[in-house]
Amino acid sequence: MKIYKFGGSSVKDATAIKRVSNIILSQDRCGVVVVSATKNTTNELETIAKSSSLSEENLTSKLISTLFDRHREIARDLELDIELSIFELETELRAISSSMKGDGEVSPSKMDSLYSFGERLSSLILSRYLQRVSTKNVILKDVREVLITNDHWNLAAPLIGETSSAIEKWGSLTENDLVITQGFIGSTTSGQTTTLGREGSDFSATLLGEVLHASEVTIWTDVAGVATCDPRIIDTAKFIENLSYKHAASLAHFGAKVLFERTLEPAIRKKFPVLVRSTLSPSEVGTSIHELPLESGPVGIALENNILTVVGEKLLSEDVDFPFNCLKSYEIERQTDEFISLKFSNEDTGNAVEVLHAWVLKSLHS
Ligand code: ASP
Ligand code: MG
Repeated sequence: MKIYKFGGSSVKDATAIKRVSNIILSQDRCGVVVVSATKNTTNELETIAKSSSLSEENLTSKLISTLFDRHREIARDLELDIELSIFELETELRAISSSMKGDGEVSPSKMDSLYSFGERLSSLILSRYLQRVSTKNVILKDVREVLITNDHWNLAAPLIGETSSAIEKWGSLTENDLVITQGFIGSTTSGQTTTLGREGSDFSATLLGEVLHASEVTIWTDVAGVATCDPRIIDTAKFIENLSYKHAASLAHFGAKVLFERTLEPAIRKKFPVLVRSTLSPSEVGTSIHELPLESGPVGIALENNILTVVGEKLLSEDVDFPFNCLKSYEIERQTDEFISLKFSNEDTGNAVEVLHAWVLKSLHS
């Protein structure tokens, strides 16, 4: 059984939802789909929480209407008759928002309850659309029944033992079942809603992969894989077809935006591959992250706040010729055999990316 995870831009409107549905329908072995909130919804929920706590009632009400109307429009474009379910969610959200009135500051636990509506809405819409177009038995499941976490609000840690037992509630899934569920959210052992941290839906997908014994998890996003550097920073960046767990985890740790940092932990424990592919170009192979022999040399670059980190293997050994002498002024943040982090001034960062990235590409091809 395979798990697919789709991010917010992949479900942002009716066209995107149709595109995603075609991808799901073209793969028989996909048994579980994990979905993020539609693009920007999570940010809007943060704004709603702030204005609720500041008792700005008119503004809050308008923001809530805008958010729900956008989802109603998607439902209408897909010709779905789900107004009753949307109305129920809206009523529930308005009640939580009212309970925040006068709090002054946003309560982290109430924030988590509010956050949940983004993923609950997107999963509702996707599941109802798939029920119409798929021949499979499409079931919408609330992930909070099974993904159990501690109560570190807004950045909860999963409790694997509890989650492994709770997953029994979903029974055994047959080849004909297709479960649609939410990323990002979970619940404490006492049933309070939690979230895994912003962008945490990738992690939800691999956690479900772990407890459901998935054969692989695919993170469908809007870039065709993990690249040698963020393609938005440098256009010569190349997608990496096969990447080790270790190097992918380090790139994510040092600021490569493509995966949530903890995503690979469940995959490493259970040794299933994690694929990163693009919904916009599904014919491209993307990146497969799995266990690989580690060869010496650089693999890729991550950039965060003018700190550029080259990730690789045996970077300080004699046969790896790190191009320190081609760089202008820099400070060494840290250097080990597995990563070298250098800090540059604003003006020097662009050039440093070019020089180091060219070196990475050259090393990969030699
Ligand atoms: N919807 C959440 C966010 O925007 C989680 C995710 O998309 O991964 O942070
Ligand atoms: Mg993401």
